[in-house]
Amino acid sequence: MAEPASLAMADGDTIFALSSGPAPAGIAVIRVSGGGAGAVARALTGRTPGTDRLPARQARFARLCDPEDGELLDTGVALWFPGPGSFTGEDVAEFQIHGGAATIAAVLEAIGRCPGCRPAAAGAFARRAFANGRMDLTEAEGLSDLIAAETEAQRRLALSHAGGAGRDRYDAWTERLVGVLATLEAAVDFPEDDLPEKMLERNEIEIRALINEWHQDIEDGARTSRIREGVRIAILGAPNVGKSSLLNRLAGREAAIVSPAAGTTRDVVEVRLDLNGFLATVSDTAGLREATDAVEKEGVRRARRAAAGADLVLLVAEDSQTAERLLRNAALGGAPRICAVTKTDLTPAPAGWADGERRFAVSSATGAGLKRLVSALGARCARLTAAGAAAASIRQRHRDALTRASQALERALDAPEVALAGENVRAATIEIGRITGRVDVEAVLDKVFSEFCIGK
Ligand code: GDP
Repeated sequence: MAEPASLAMADGDTIFALSSGPAPAGIAVIRVSGGGAGAVARALTGRTPGTDRLPARQARFARLCDPEDGELLDTGVALWFPGPGSFTGEDVAEFQIHGGAATIAAVLEAIGRCPGCRPAAAGAFARRAFANGRMDLTEAEGLSDLIAAETEAQRRLALSHAGGAGRDRYDAWTERLVGVLATLEAAVDFPEDDLPEKMLERNEIEIRALINEWHQDIEDGARTSRIREGVRIAILGAPNVGKSSLLNRLAGREAAIVSPAAGTTRDVVEVRLDLNGFLATVSDTAGLREATDAVEKEGVRRARRAAAGADLVLLVAEDSQTAERLLRNAALGGAPRICAVTKTDLTPAPAGWADGERRFAVSSATGAGLKRLVSALGARCARLTAAGAAAASIRQRHRDALTRASQALERALDAPEVALAGENVRAATIEIGRITGRVDVEAVLDKVFSEFCIGK
């Protein structure tokens, strides 16, 4: 039988790795990608990929044997994904085997002995997928976020970006930029009289629209990025009011030292919490009061700094009057604040004081009021992260490039001559290309110009 075409191409090394989690596990998945993947599959399973014995994208039970002495290594499932329609764009073989450490090691070792095969470096499969045009950089980043996702909001955000939500927006912007650029280049090449009326004015409107959309996206993206990085919540209050106890209760584990002696939480303790699907980094700081010893002064300084860097401040007090004072205290920075009166098992808060919005009454001893507080914190996180806003620039890298692209467009608007404006629009296009990893403005322009007829 003739060799399937995709088996014959041997472009570069063939890489392999354990793609599932560490042993022991019920199942382990080993992935092999590259021109030699088909040969590996055949050597280990005795089945020729692309034939009825191992057809494309269909699972086959397989006995995996040592290619040299034929010893049975394991029994499992073999899968064959011929390039270019595979994850990496290359030929890919996958083996689902038993997830024991020795089994995984034996199969990996056998693959490593196949000609041209080497262990994959971190991210190597995704890198090949990018190199072969199977995903752009924003999708690769989304994929990496998806693997790291710990909360519901992170999972949803990562999944949409891994699926191309960011790419689609950048591609649409690139297309519009290229349209603008094409007009400008035409204006250079063609005598002014031949330009359709108002063409340059329309261009200017489009440039301004792009700048506005990018500014909005940078703003939304900065908020959405809190889904990835976590909303920063600082817990502030006087020593001994029950900050650490509250944090421990929220975390459901011993995260900060709880002690009856004043001023024990001298440093900042950070705990990552899942608040109704949102990641929050909650920092418990030293008590807010006039510090007497040097160590405590440093702690108070850090507390103020934590408040300054926080997205949300959770104030803690033992009584409602102090709580009200803290809510109004100007020295605590501009982040939104909510306040919890603690130890309500000892002294209840005044009736009607807790409003479930900014004012809460809780007891870390009995757990009373904590559910309300957590769901309010979760709702605040949702607002702070602009959850639902379809921002494309969710990483600093994206926002930096988008900022440079906007600046280039501003320069294009100010440019004294059309050629200079075109240069700046081209620079903006390249910046967007840096985000997605596709910087081939010329290729896009060629395509546009092939359809472009002006002043003919
Ligand atoms: P922090 O200095 O503000 O972090 O306060 P801690 O969390 O260390 O608490 C100080 C003291 O108050 C400890 O003895 C806690 O056990 C006690 N405490 C904290 N929260 C409560 C509560 O809700 N009810 C009662 N009865 N005691 C509490």
